[in-house]
Amino acid sequence: MLPKVIRRRFSNVLAVDLGTANTLVYVKGKGVSVDEPSVVAVQKNGRKNGRILAVGKDAKKMLGRTPGNIEAIRPMRDGVIADFEGAGTMLRQLIKQAHMGRKMMRPRIVVGVPSGITQVERNAVREAAQLAGASEVFLIEQPIAAAIAAGLPVTAPACSMVVDIGGGTTQVAVISLAGIVYGKSVRMGGDKMDEAITQYMKHRHNLLIGEQSAESIKMTIGNVLPGDIREHMEVKGKDISTGLPKSIRIDSCEVRDALTEPIRVIVETVKQALEEIPPELSADLMERGIVLTGGVALLKNLDKLLHDKTGLPIRIADNPLSTVALGAGQALDMRDILEGILN
Ligand code: ADP
Ligand code: MG
Repeated sequence: MLPKVIRRRFSNVLAVDLGTANTLVYVKGKGVSVDEPSVVAVQKNGRKNGRILAVGKDAKKMLGRTPGNIEAIRPMRDGVIADFEGAGTMLRQLIKQAHMGRKMMRPRIVVGVPSGITQVERNAVREAAQLAGASEVFLIEQPIAAAIAAGLPVTAPACSMVVDIGGGTTQVAVISLAGIVYGKSVRMGGDKMDEAITQYMKHRHNLLIGEQSAESIKMTIGNVLPGDIREHMEVKGKDISTGLPKSIRIDSCEVRDALTEPIRVIVETVKQALEEIPPELSADLMERGIVLTGGVALLKNLDKLLHDKTGLPIRIADNPLSTVALGAGQALDMRDILEGILN
């Protein structure tokens, strides 16, 4: 049984994963009830704060397609808040959505944050959540939340490794006794992969494509070990020389080539972690392996490639896009974790 003070504190709570690519809201007793791209579209008309036109999927469709008076922005960059007002607006809207219009007292909110961010960056998250209506804000490190949802024994004196690859960052964390004993985060993730694909299309095929087309190529035929099974896809964009619309066919080997550098950085970051941890922890990891999470965990054959490069067993978390939100939600019922994040 939790002490009364903790029970009272967490009676009206939400857990939020404020990600670079996607924001999820977990409602106790209901699970993940909002899951939307981290994008807001506002109409500017001279005033400082524009009118909100759309948040999430609808706003994402507007990216790269807005007339002068409309702005579609991604308020999160590289795992942290880049546009403070945008982040607060988006969060307020999504929290409202999680309550489905019902009135609710100002909730207490647990937010997953990347491990190793600065105090200033943590404060920005706190204040954005307050701006969105939170009465109190607690922060939990994303790798710990992910590990909880993946069913790892986070509070035991045995270590587990989580590799979370999202839109903006790759976070490698070794967790033991509810804390992070080794953590490393690099600004490499799905967004940089999309950029790499855009550059490849430009240089190899003389074709300009948008951010969303690049993402769709990555998700549809991206494969880090295509081997014999090549997949193809039609890609539409704009010819650099003629300026006219053009469509070409590309295959998964080309996408693998385009992703060489981002994949190299991810593999190096994991290997570096393995080199730097003490031997006792290495021994644990030999047995337990690595859990992969975040949307990029779904990139075809990334698990196999990491296994080839490290020799360790690799498991993809069940719902890699929602592990942080689920884990932050589950942490609400875990006393050892709660005590760590109460202040
Ligand atoms: P964040 O925590 O930064 O919001 P997510 O964990 O939600 O990020 O992951 C989003 C990233 O995962 C995006 O870059 C998206 O393109 C990528 N992604 C999602 N599904 C797939 C897939 N099937 N294959 C490859 N990448 C994917
Ligand atoms: Mg994330």
